[in-house]
Amino acid sequence: MDIATIIMLVLFSFVVGGGLYIIFKLKFAYRKVSDMLGEDLVENLKKAKSLEDHPRSVSGMTRVLLPKILEDFPEFNWIEFKHDIEEKIRQCVKKEHSCTATIHQTEILEYVKNKGTVAIHTQSAVRRGDEETRYNASLLYIQDAAYADSNNTIVVNCANCGAPIRTFGRKHCEYCGSAVTEINIKVWNIENVREVG
Ligand SMILES: [Zn+2]
Repeated sequence: MDIATIIMLVLFSFVVGGGLYIIFKLKFAYRKVSDMLGEDLVENLKKAKSLEDHPRSVSGMTRVLLPKILEDFPEFNWIEFKHDIEEKIRQCVKKEHSCTATIHQTEILEYVKNKGTVAIHTQSAVRRGDEETRYNASLLYIQDAAYADSNNTIVVNCANCGAPIRTFGRKHCEYCGSAVTEINIKVWNIENVREVG
């Protein structure tokens, strides 16, 4: 063996050794990082799960708004409508998720009066299967159909595709063509039952 071959061999073993060392280090670091990530992931999932186990809070304005509604509509029976809204949510959950829903709480969020139309927006804390979520709904009252079209607050969404139906008295959704439940005049209609999370 001449000196050049020996130098070459030494250099070669350095390169191979160094390469192996780097690979080993990288593998070790990778394992460490993935362990950490794995722990974090598990921890975060646990946290998310425990959050889901608690009912979503609903901070309504029922106490403030109900007296105002009763001033305008002395016959308005909140207990009855609350019951009807909760029943609609249960039906909606059963239809869309094929599971049962427990309603913890339903509160009035907003009371919007306009020329010819009135809307009461509500929010409910809902337990759906083993998940906690929230559903909104609206009670709509149309005093005068002439105002319903031009009024921006009365927007009913298609139960099938969610598209807004802005034209009062329309029988079919203009996007998906499914039949639209007609809004009756001078009675409260429960509309736009939807999950808001
Ligand atoms: Zn539609």
